[in-house]
Amino acid sequence: MRVTGDWIENDHVQEVLGMLAEGGHRALLVGGCVRNSLLGYPVADIDIATDAVPERVMELARNAGLKPVPTGIDHGTITVVAKGEPHEVTTFRRDVETFGRRAVVAYSTHVEDDAARRDFTMNALYAEADGRVIDPLGGLPDLRSRRVRFVGDAGERIREDFLRILRFFRFHAWYGDEREGLDPEGLAACAANSAGIETLSKERLGHEMRRLLAAPDPAPSVAAMQATGVLSRVLPGADARALAPLIHIEDAYAPAFLRRLAALGGEDPEDALRLSRPESRRLSILREGIASTAGAAELAYRHGAEAAHDIVLLRAALAGAPLPEGWENEVARGAVAKFPIRASDLMPALEGEALGARLRELEAQWIAAGFSLTREQLLS
Ligand code: ATP
Ligand code: MG
Repeated sequence: MRVTGDWIENDHVQEVLGMLAEGGHRALLVGGCVRNSLLGYPVADIDIATDAVPERVMELARNAGLKPVPTGIDHGTITVVAKGEPHEVTTFRRDVETFGRRAVVAYSTHVEDDAARRDFTMNALYAEADGRVIDPLGGLPDLRSRRVRFVGDAGERIREDFLRILRFFRFHAWYGDEREGLDPEGLAACAANSAGIETLSKERLGHEMRRLLAAPDPAPSVAAMQATGVLSRVLPGADARALAPLIHIEDAYAPAFLRRLAALGGEDPEDALRLSRPESRRLSILREGIASTAGAAELAYRHGAEAAHDIVLLRAALAGAPLPEGWENEVARGAVAKFPIRASDLMPALEGEALGARLRELEAQWIAAGFSLTREQLLS
């Protein structure tokens, strides 16, 4: 079994692997790059595991004229920049048992130790510089059947790091087999340990939800999150029901995190997921738009074509109704409409509050007439 692809043949990847090998060390590609390339997905970032300790990685990188940056020195990670590209080089680690709780971490020289600490079997696959796959835990069959399965006892692994609950649902959404569904043991362990979500920071919850909702079809995973009690811990009051119909009608469009998030509702997603200001603003436009009675054209006039498009989709998904006839033309029409009256047209006869009220009134008439009234008609 070999991984192939341009990414592994890249000079910079081979340079980093080569500098470790020439220093007498084992250097293996690991994680997302191996998994994705075996599944035929694009490879985004390069993770490398090695038996060289971090200080040694720094030294070898400097000697090779590369740039080592101690980005995660606490957990043994050095980012080695070669030809402008980052490579995360992490020393093999093993868990050391302390009072029955595996928490303390030590460096190791064995890839088997390193594999045992990883979250899912499909993430514990390694590859040599020539692409030969190393599979210390027998993760390949799981990868082939697209089964996201915890390494070792699911409950124990979750209690070591509750973020793994969210990673379980995220990786299933991206790489799982929908007909088979989620791994029952992992699912049960997530349900039993969902209270642990409370220990995670809202930033991390937001980060995971962004990546989950960006999957081609996150609906089955999010429904399972709801069924296990995980969703309400992440986003109180949320409801997954409208997500599947939304995914169905948004089919032809690029997935958008905020549109999908808006479909979940919830009490205070801005806070629960620590959204940025622009994200919060956009989400409230969507939420208010869903609740309003404005038509597609008016929405597009007020908030732009993209927001109007999202609101129309969301309304249909939430109502379980088909998309309204001709909505796309309405959106296009509203997006280019320009209100022909300016405040100066009404001054000095009106000013202050009266001016504002009159402008809004004229605007409402103009919108109700389908943007067709001219300046003269409105002013007469
Ligand atoms: P992607 O980058 O596409 O999200 P990835 O698998 O590379 O996928 P990363 O978060 O970059 O995910 O982590 C790299 C590898 O580190 C994972 O494949 C996994 O082996 C391990 N890993 C990351 N986070 C955890 C965790 N919380 N618990 C155990 N192992 C983890
Ligand atoms: Mg990665």
